[in-house]
Amino acid sequence: MKRAVIVGAGITGLATALRLSRDGWQTLVVERAVARRSGGYLMNLLGSGYDAIEHLGLLDALTAHDLGTFTTVLVHADGRPKYTVPSALAEAALGDRTLTVFRGDLESTLYDAVKDLAEVRFDTTVTSIEDTGDRVRVGISDGTTEQADLVVGADGVHSATRTALFGPGFQVDLPYLVGAVPLDASVGEVAEPRVTTFIGPGRTAAIFHAGRQQSSAFFTYRCADPAAELRRGPVAAFGATFGDLGGDVPDALRHLERHPDEAYVDSVSQVVMPRWSTGRVVLLGDAAWCATLFAGYGAALAMTGADQLGSALRRHDGDVPAALTEWEGGLRPEVVKRQAQARRGMLQYAPPSRFHVWMGDLTIRAITLPGIRGLVRRGVARAGR
Ligand SMILES: Cc1cc2nc3c(=O)[nH]c(=O)nc-3n(C[C@H](O)[C@H](O)[C@H](O)COP(=O)(O)OP(=O)(O)OC[C@H]3O[C@@H](n4cnc5c(N)ncnc54)[C@H](O)[C@@H]3O)c2cc1C
Repeated sequence: MKRAVIVGAGITGLATALRLSRDGWQTLVVERAVARRSGGYLMNLLGSGYDAIEHLGLLDALTAHDLGTFTTVLVHADGRPKYTVPSALAEAALGDRTLTVFRGDLESTLYDAVKDLAEVRFDTTVTSIEDTGDRVRVGISDGTTEQADLVVGADGVHSATRTALFGPGFQVDLPYLVGAVPLDASVGEVAEPRVTTFIGPGRTAAIFHAGRQQSSAFFTYRCADPAAELRRGPVAAFGATFGDLGGDVPDALRHLERHPDEAYVDSVSQVVMPRWSTGRVVLLGDAAWCATLFAGYGAALAMTGADQLGSALRRHDGDVPAALTEWEGGLRPEVVKRQAQARRGMLQYAPPSRFHVWMGDLTIRAITLPGIRGLVRRGVARAGR
């Protein structure tokens, strides 16, 4: 039986483990964290990611967690509504092959599907990787050694597998900080799901209201030194940047203050590499091509990449390097497209000036006009979303 070692039990690692195990691979997932990560931020899964979810047999389980589309209320700094984009418009633009779920629900759906098929070892990491041509010898921090036919580095944007195998220098740091925190009912009690969004020069604050245990806040802002902002911690960093806002934001910041450990906070980096594999070792997901949250497509790409990797390995039964080359050739155009989309997205989330905010407002206002909706729908369909 062919054996794979996967580094990282995030969305990418679990999706890869699921696909390979179903194809008859004996699979070991090595995860540095002591336990699984639940909760987290809201994500859209669409396009090829939705196809992969269907192909992996996860559609019914994930549909149960789908929060659907939201009415968007764009607000002024003091929280007064500027205008409303109805959920029907988002629905028309995104199409019906879209899921909106919490990262934690996607993670637990994947974990439930894979836990009896693959071994997942928490609190461990890989200490050495030696590709001998026909196999790879993998040292694990629990003192064991594995002989594998394939090693998958699915250890995220700061991937140690990438640095060990390809060297440093592929991470392109962007001048932004991002944060997301789940909210309790005091902020989330609403009649129907909606998101209130403030977009100002250099910053966005969005509060998703979907009811008890299903609401969350999202913050991002432009900053010269994201590492310094990270050192301040989420309460100080987001408090200083968004403390002047009204509406739902003060409640969300108070919640963050009470539960700083629940927050996801990170700097924003893309990963740009000329090749994602060497011999029998391949990088997948954020480790290989992180598109960033500004693309809104990282998990979708992870699912797509994992599923297509399984298909390529099947086609090239026994010839792992040939499978990896074919897989990369097929996937790269989509990744390049999503990374470019993310760079455009940065301007929407953190417009450089008041003029850009005004232009963004104008565009959103225009697409809510009935005559333009059809054009948006067709444009989005053409863009493959
Ligand atoms: C705020 C936000 C919003 C987003 N919205 C969307 C969206 O709407 N749609 C979408 O498709 N995507 C979205 N994304 C992107 C998406 O979340 C990621 O691209 C996706 O989860 C893929 O992650 P990954 O598994 O590759 O990496 P990670 O989630 O970083 O997982 C890596 C795993 O590897 C483990 N690990 C790290 N180092 C080691 C090591 N040395 N040894 C062992 N284990 C290790 C980590 O503990 C972790 O469990 C969003 C991201 C953010 C931050």
